[in-house]
Amino acid sequence: MADRPCRALGGLTPLAAANTPNLDIMSRGGLLGLAQTVPEGMDPSSDVAILSLLGYHPPGLITGRGPLEAASQGLDFGPADLVFRLNLITVEETGGALLMRDHAADNLSTPEARELLAALAEELPLTAGQRLYPGVSYRHILIWPDPAPERAPSRPPHDYRDRDLTPLLNDPAASQTAALVHASRPILEKHPVNARRRAAGRLPANCLWLWGQGRRPALKTFQERWGLTGAAVSAVDLVKGLGVLTGLEAPPVPGATGWVDTDYQGKVETALKALTRLDLAVIHLEAPDEASHRGELDMKMRAITDFDALVAGPLLKALPDFGEFRILAASDHPTPLELTTHSADPVPFLIYSQPPVPGPSGRPFSEAEAAATGLLVSPGADLGRLLFGPEK
Ligand SMILES: [Zn+2]
Repeated sequence: MADRPCRALGGLTPLAAANTPNLDIMSRGGLLGLAQTVPEGMDPSSDVAILSLLGYHPPGLITGRGPLEAASQGLDFGPADLVFRLNLITVEETGGALLMRDHAADNLSTPEARELLAALAEELPLTAGQRLYPGVSYRHILIWPDPAPERAPSRPPHDYRDRDLTPLLNDPAASQTAALVHASRPILEKHPVNARRRAAGRLPANCLWLWGQGRRPALKTFQERWGLTGAAVSAVDLVKGLGVLTGLEAPPVPGATGWVDTDYQGKVETALKALTRLDLAVIHLEAPDEASHRGELDMKMRAITDFDALVAGPLLKALPDFGEFRILAASDHPTPLELTTHSADPVPFLIYSQPPVPGPSGRPFSEAEAAATGLLVSPGADLGRLLFGPEK
């Protein structure tokens, strides 16, 4: 949701320009500021930034999104396993280059992906112990037991759209992962799923890509740190995995998609239901980030106004029934439209509560208003203390 000033919006950010009456009520009546969710020197990846929002200081805790997603799927893996995210992607060979056309293989469906993963499991030259697990759409898991390619680089494929992958594959540190990438191409190219996709005018899922690898992180649970129970409501495996590893429940929301067509009402209802018996609910919305990666300003504005109307509004209405409550609203990291990828800039956050915070900000919710308060929470993990109080 967080962004930089856009010329198309007369110098406002999407959050400042969008109609967000509910967030503004909470911001005016609550604590407003910026939080440095991406510690200096770390990549502005979602796993790092979301961990900060949950009150955990990421250095030393996070090694990649692979193990988080594997945890959310309930996969069995131990400290001797390196866990990779495996994307099915679309590549195009042209003029001696191997171009990355789509990191999401043109909205590959989950049934199509399962067929392709089955073919890869059968035909790839996997060593004993290497395991492939199908996930959702283009997102899958490869578990690589020791000896694993410890020094293989992690290159997020969404950062390489329309770029030549050849230099990455020729990197000597990537030789073991590149061998699987190369081996996947003939298997996928000739697969009937891709023949059907081409016939229907869709891009094929004709290559695998390995990235986001890491080992199982050792995280204290919310119960151990604050004596709190809770649930994480998200369409995204990474968020559910962080929830599982910090001791939160991860209830399914069937209509949650991670896009503007997600079941907002279903997510809010799931969270409110969880709050009838648990202390804490985390609701994660992915659509503003996805719209930013696509460079789509209109979609981003819609994602923000929908978030305000369909998530912030109903929560604001429902939470007083619980008596005392606290809400933290924040972006995990900015995804500026001008970059179409993440940045490490601090994010605006608000904390709204009953009983109210002393000295409410009186300001609406935006990056500039948050900066103008002069409050910078750094490291961002200190939000945990602001929200929950001191640890046990
Ligand atoms: Zn993103």
